[in-house]
Amino acid sequence: MEKHILSKTSYIKGVQCLKQLYLTKKYPKLRDRLPAERLAIFSRGTNVGIYAQELFPGGIDAGPKHYTQYQKAVARTKELMGNGQEVIYEAAFQADKTLILLDILVRNGDKWDAYEVKSSVKLSRTYYNDAALQYNVIVNSGIALNSFSLIYINKDYKLDGDINIQKLFIITDVTQDCIKQQSFVKDKIREELIMLNQDESPIIGVGKQCFEPYDCDFIGHCWKGIKRPSVFDIPSIDISRQFDLYNKYGGLPNILQNEKSIDEFETIEMNCQIEKMPHLDLSENTLNDFEELYNSKNQKYAVKILYFIPALPLYSGTKPYQKIAFAYSLMPLDGSGNVELFIANGQNNPNEEIFDRLLNDSKNIDLLGYNINTNYIEVLDLQQIVDNGEYYHPAMNTDYSNKLLSKAMDIRPQWGAIESDIVAAQYYDEILRGHKKSKEKLLLIKNYLQKEVELVGKFFDYLSQ
Ligand code: SF4
Repeated sequence: MEKHILSKTSYIKGVQCLKQLYLTKKYPKLRDRLPAERLAIFSRGTNVGIYAQELFPGGIDAGPKHYTQYQKAVARTKELMGNGQEVIYEAAFQADKTLILLDILVRNGDKWDAYEVKSSVKLSRTYYNDAALQYNVIVNSGIALNSFSLIYINKDYKLDGDINIQKLFIITDVTQDCIKQQSFVKDKIREELIMLNQDESPIIGVGKQCFEPYDCDFIGHCWKGIKRPSVFDIPSIDISRQFDLYNKYGGLPNILQNEKSIDEFETIEMNCQIEKMPHLDLSENTLNDFEELYNSKNQKYAVKILYFIPALPLYSGTKPYQKIAFAYSLMPLDGSGNVELFIANGQNNPNEEIFDRLLNDSKNIDLLGYNINTNYIEVLDLQQIVDNGEYYHPAMNTDYSNKLLSKAMDIRPQWGAIESDIVAAQYYDEILRGHKKSKEKLLLIKNYLQKEVELVGKFFDYLSQ
């Protein structure tokens, strides 16, 4: 069988932007380095597909074991279907130079039911597009398809004892939607194949498609021509308005001079970006909070809390994607003691243990944090100062996260260090699953907790001056 040209992933890239598909196929080296945060999000819920297979037990996996074996997998699927196999996992089909791997294929009389699993709690338009492509390829392979369904996670499912697979998943029949989309899919496949035959990349300017539905892999390449700083470095303006302003005025000085809708907050961020200078103007409320803090006899501590969000509930009483605290660090702000680090072993739900300990530890102390995300304990969250526009730094050109606050405070990460909460959460999840590098990952989480609590201290010192 001839090698395929399109896959489900490349087809979806082409639906987002034809140039993205072209560059992926012809110039993969131009791709941006994938940030660790995105890799962590991708690997979330990798076990979901395996659990969903239990809805249809007894299947045989026909999937390729190596990227060179796709056509072998197509032949193996055909063979299993011909041999009376009732359930096939990772069933491979190819038609019109397009190859897909279907999560679960189930015999239904002399026809077949197809199921694709999504590790999500809702169905997005991209999932419907992806189902329509798979439907197209399966039907064009000559298979009598009875139905196509998407399987996704029931957000209301609460774990009670062992996982109840039937209650954990929701199955939605999307056959009619797939049928409605067939002429679009057919035209799109043809358009993508013709475009990939061209000698040059299609001419497509940057636009909202660079971020929707996913961040494109070639932003570094395509956005080189955009002079920085630009309106795309102003986090208080959403992407749609950023493009409107950019197309109307171009650079920041022009926008500031001519656009009446720019508010005070946006003006501050634009001026900071132009002048490469931070802005600090504490409000009456913040000054009162600080005064109260200085007058308090309690010792002051910086605190950092880490959470993880397992796709499938791990502990009784929890739901899919529930946020669970698993670690914290505490540091006295007067430099009088060591940083206290605690990482729960995760055998039982660590959330309660974390907050019990913190409540106990914080009885006679005042706590400060950044993006602290809890109501269980009383903490002065310094992020409100950033959210209210009292502090801004040009390093915060996409958001007000602790990662960019670190840059603003000139804290440079060490090579290989964790740089965001999402990655720390991913490492913890891997440790709980017995990852072979658990020791190294635990050390990285400890270093991150230490660095983050120091960041709070440094930011507080800066604001206090
Ligand atoms: S960065 Fe934007 S224009 Fe460039 S390939 Fe990606 S989506 Fe297309």
